[in-house]
Amino acid sequence: MMDTSAARLRPSRAGVHASASTIGAAVPFLTLLLVGVAFPLFGGGYWGVIATRACVYWVLVSGLNLVVGFAGQIAIGWVALLTLGAYTTSVLTAGNVTPAFPPYLALAIAAVVGAVFGLIIGLPALRLRTFYFAITTLGFATIVTQVALAWQSVTGGGVGVPGPIFPAPFASQWGFYYFCFGLAAICTWMTANVAASRFGRALTAIRDAEVAAEASGISKSALLSTVFLFSGAVAAIAGGLFAALQSYITPDAFTLDLSILFFISILIGGRGSVLGPLLGTILLTALPEFAAPLVAWSTFLYAVLLLVIVLAIPGGIAEILDFKNRRPLESDRAIIPRPDLLARLLGAPANAGALMLEHVALSFGGVHAIEDLDLEIRPGQVHGLIGPNGSGKTTTLNVISGFYAQQRGAVSLNGTALPVFNRPQRAHMRIARTFQTPRIVGSASVLQNVMIGGTIDGEGTFVESLLSLPRHRRDEAMLRDTAMLALAAVGLERLAAVRADRLQHSELRFTEIARALMLRPAFLLLDEPAAGLSAEEIGRLGALLLTIARAGTGVLLVEHHADLVFDICHHVTVLNLGKVLAAGTPAEIRSHREVVHAYLGG
Ligand code: ADP
Ligand code: MG
Repeated sequence: MMDTSAARLRPSRAGVHASASTIGAAVPFLTLLLVGVAFPLFGGGYWGVIATRACVYWVLVSGLNLVVGFAGQIAIGWVALLTLGAYTTSVLTAGNVTPAFPPYLALAIAAVVGAVFGLIIGLPALRLRTFYFAITTLGFATIVTQVALAWQSVTGGGVGVPGPIFPAPFASQWGFYYFCFGLAAICTWMTANVAASRFGRALTAIRDAEVAAEASGISKSALLSTVFLFSGAVAAIAGGLFAALQSYITPDAFTLDLSILFFISILIGGRGSVLGPLLGTILLTALPEFAAPLVAWSTFLYAVLLLVIVLAIPGGIAEILDFKNRRPLESDRAIIPRPDLLARLLGAPANAGALMLEHVALSFGGVHAIEDLDLEIRPGQVHGLIGPNGSGKTTTLNVISGFYAQQRGAVSLNGTALPVFNRPQRAHMRIARTFQTPRIVGSASVLQNVMIGGTIDGEGTFVESLLSLPRHRRDEAMLRDTAMLALAAVGLERLAAVRADRLQHSELRFTEIARALMLRPAFLLLDEPAAGLSAEEIGRLGALLLTIARAGTGVLLVEHHADLVFDICHHVTVLNLGKVLAAGTPAEIRSHREVVHAYLGG
């Protein structure tokens, strides 16, 4: 039902706009494709080697880009997987340990080995953050090189092994170039597909707004594991190609400089882009050739280049090329929600029963953030939760949404206890939330941010997205239409294509609500949604929230604006120092002596 109604809403203008921008985005890739195909016409033999090398590096970097550029993991030792792939392919084809394998089969086996090791090298990322993870990847790079040196019977130790030779038509220099170029093109296509899928958006959400990703039901461990498998596989394939290009490999071919080159290609390319890192890889592969007299200085040049880019254009090459986001936005743009669209967006009310908190308590060290809290949020009603700063409102919301585990008491939905500490699970139970400080992927468009909220409703797998199979395309169309509908409902559809970090604060708040609505929430938890809004916007927010409740959703509204709370809430709970000071209808609370005394200034 929802699909047809969403389709009806899809304005033809937005449709045309989307396809035009898709074509626009493809132009640089098609240009590179043409240049790459025609390259042998211009480039001499030596440039052929450089171009082949750039293709090989890009096969690795394309996968690493999902790890570094999209998921934001500092994986600097990825040369380990190149080494592993190079040795696996070479040793299998050389036949000094096993019967000699055909090179294509050896390459495929290397891909599998690489996938497994990609996962092993990546796993620490699920526990360690930033530099700690970076160090573990470096550790792996060292280990792999040391093993290659020491395991002489297999790897030839310091003497090395011959690389694989791919049979005709790929045996000649240009033949091999086209082989690598073809693989590089396929990797570009696949990673661009992932980038434009719910998986790519989920990765950027993990990078820039991890709590929002979790609240949207995105499982960081499952998604990162998948990406490490893919990244490991293509890195090992790059290794096999690298060995063939070198024709003979020894452990000292795999330097840390190479690893840094891969990493920096992504940084100067721009995080969250495919084109940027692709250009970055080409640039960094070719640069030392132009600066041949300066070879001794190449590391120095990389460092300078990196510094300049990071300081001058933190968004990298991708930001330079992002012309569309340089146009100024209208200065006075009102947010006019359209609550009438909510019925279509939310569908039939889910018969969820009530969300109950009974005797819930949680303290942080000596601070009793909440003590013996009872709360009942009913479908179809707005429940206000008010109280001074530090009274435990956000903590309550965090307990309900699984960010904290209560130390005593129970949180249950329709009589069933909610799983403790399982944040992504809440989204599957259709419990959505917003944050006191909006958690948004700044470098993604408003539309993409909202689409993140619907991640769990996609049906296609990661592989289907890689290959842009029909289910992936159906997911994308469905998520896009639903997100446009959600944006129209909160009054932001005109900003759909704008980078989210260009929005005003109030617009970010409404963007978060739109993202939460993507879950078709049975319960919607809002943490001070009116903070920073103008009086007019607060009025419109109130009408929007009332309509959301009328559609059957139970709304928990944490708020400071007493007027908004008394206007729209069916029930209000007042907290003070983690305890319930009063609970009742707005009329009761308004005339409650202690409450009036403490907050309402009466
Ligand atoms: P409110 O949202 O009502 O302003 P909070 O729920 O954020 O209040 O905080 C309630 C109390 O719990 C405060 O004293 C706060 O300092 C404390 N608190 C909240 N989260 C944490 C935490 N993660 N670690 C330690 N103390 C916390
Ligand atoms: Mg708070």
